[in-house]
Amino acid sequence: TGRLSGKHCLVTAAAQGVMLVAGIGRATVEAFLREGAVLVVAVDINAQKLNELTSDRVVRRVLDVRDGEGIKALARDHPDIDVLFNCAGIVHQRPLLETTDQEWNNSFDVNVKSMFLFCREFLPKMISRGGGSIINMSSAASSLRGIDRRCVYGATKAAVIGLTKGLAMEHVRDGIRCNVVCPSPVASPSFGSRSTDPEDSDLEHISFMENKRIGRLAKPEEVANLCLYLASDESSYHTGNVFVIDGGFTL
Ligand code: NAD
Repeated sequence: TGRLSGKHCLVTAAAQGVMLVAGIGRATVEAFLREGAVLVVAVDINAQKLNELTSDRVVRRVLDVRDGEGIKALARDHPDIDVLFNCAGIVHQRPLLETTDQEWNNSFDVNVKSMFLFCREFLPKMISRGGGSIINMSSAASSLRGIDRRCVYGATKAAVIGLTKGLAMEHVRDGIRCNVVCPSPVASPSFGSRSTDPEDSDLEHISFMENKRIGRLAKPEEVANLCLYLASDESSYHTGNVFVIDGGFTL
């Protein structure tokens, strides 16, 4: 029993965890397991970290979310997914004038195209099973707020909001719910590594001054709790909705 009992889930960017600090994906895998998910397919490019997920209800899959053929094969192997959490994303942190075509394309491939690919492969089975919940990871740095050195990142995350709303519209009568999560800076392992980047002097300002409205960064577990709600039937009247979780960051 639990809030997700009976549900088969898939989470991308599922592996990251350093000591006791999980990434958002991994914290969400743990929340889904705690609430009784039958199975969680944990997708990540990092095989070593993925091996740290040892529950017998976890299926580990080493996969790059840019790999369309790999995603097709995964969907064939797991035709019974009820909850798809597209969490994977990278943070490109340079000004537009210093950004290459390759960096622009890769940001959109990892942050946006991956969601298109996962949705295209997993939706048909969800529809034939009578419904499902898709959760897409955006950010407060998107159409919600402009952040210094995050214009490319913000463009990808704004695109995620547009993708989610359009998809929600297209499949609202199929029982598919599709929502988007927009956190302010979260104290995840990847955020920790970014904040030590000496070039990113503004980050300290962002994280410690602006988030002072609530006095601290978000915890990955707090974002995971929101994803848990969106994955569960408790959120049955939400679709196409933008869930900002920011401790006052966008005030
Ligand atoms: P994290 O610390 O969990 O690390 C990201 C994980 O993604 C790693 O395990 C990495 O191996 C995996 N990954 C990276 N590229 C991949 C690829 N191509 N294919 C498969 N897996 C890949 O990261 P996080 O900070 O928790 O961020 C997760 C998501 O949340 C991202 O989409 C990010 O943009 C978003 N987000 C993060 C913050 C923040 O401050 N941390 C704020 C808002 C939104």
